[in-house]
Amino acid sequence: MKSILVTGGAGFIGSHLCKRLLGEGNRVICLDNYFTGSESLMRELLVYPNFQSVEHDVTIPYKTTSAIDEIYNLACPASPIHYQYDPIKTIKTSILGAINMLELAQAHDARILQASTSEVYGDPFIHPQPESYWGNVNTIGIRSCYDEGKRAAETLFMDYHRQNKLKIKIIRIFNTYGPNMTVHDGRVVSNFIIQALRNENITVYGDGRQTRSFQYVDDLVEGMVRMMATEDSFTGPVNLGNPGEFTMVELAEHIIRLTGSRSEIVFRPLPSDDPKQRKPDITLAREKLGGWYPSVPLEEGLKRTIRYFQSL
Ligand code: NAD
Ligand code: UDP
Repeated sequence: MKSILVTGGAGFIGSHLCKRLLGEGNRVICLDNYFTGSESLMRELLVYPNFQSVEHDVTIPYKTTSAIDEIYNLACPASPIHYQYDPIKTIKTSILGAINMLELAQAHDARILQASTSEVYGDPFIHPQPESYWGNVNTIGIRSCYDEGKRAAETLFMDYHRQNKLKIKIIRIFNTYGPNMTVHDGRVVSNFIIQALRNENITVYGDGRQTRSFQYVDDLVEGMVRMMATEDSFTGPVNLGNPGEFTMVELAEHIIRLTGSRSEIVFRPLPSDDPKQRKPDITLAREKLGGWYPSVPLEEGLKRTIRYFQSL
């Protein structure tokens, strides 16, 4: 049994990861400040005797006498409406959170994995995006608190690895969706499903021709666990995403069809710096993570997510 600390464990991805790690018989400690996380998701995990939930803000150092073998650092709001709500706090969460968790890893000689993002590629000129691409990110825009915070966190992880010999892993997550997203999450998949289920207008931003690649959460969690288990010399960064690429209009049409909704598509202004295209090159993940490949097609993942929102 390993002792594993998950920051942001009360959030969408973190709740799935904690459940998976607990199911494998590990001891899991979740650190979360409940900014976007859900106490009810935590209550579901408390049925596991090896689960401990600690209310803590990662911008503050964390010390414990308990053993820690691995740390997954997920704490950070991920939906644009949430990370733009208090942008100073967002960038502090990425940078101070990375420093505090790296110091904790160092004190416990633990492996540590950073949940980075495809946002480090910004509005990319290279398509699809390989890990070797340095990206095209605006340093002063409304998305920068998130994008630049995540970029600086990657730098900190690599510097702690080179300078202090920490065992680090960096994954770059592409748009991920599934059950446990909150109704107020604000990201496109949950927005469209909720609007469709209520027969309300589906709000497509811009002309809806921008693309994203949508990964079902179980595929991501599988990739995260495999990444943590790789040899010490492999730090990443490694892309984790589903290479299927769809426009936002196509996504809206899929969801209308799958829900049998009477909703109509309406167009709303495109937020500034909204990337025009996004698709992962996952060659490295396949090679390094034992042939990892996303197994849940968009249609199947959407059906499961629709069932989840219908059950609320
Ligand atoms: P989420 O908002 O559902 O979860 C984030 C969690 O972090 C929440 O429980 C929140 O309360 C917690 N948190 C935020 N600030 C904190 C702080 N200062 N201290 C402690 N806890 C804090 O988002 P998610 O989609 O589950 O994303 C999890 C991680 O994965 C994030 O780091 C995000 O950047 C990364 N990521 C997600 C996606 C995606 O598509 N879902 C894509 C790329 C990267
Ligand atoms: N989007 C949209 N309608 C919504 C929410 C988002 O058309 O109700 C668009 C958004 O402008 C972006 C894409 O969907 O082009 C993905 O947005 P999301 O916030 O899910 O993720 P990100 O922009 O971080 O990739």
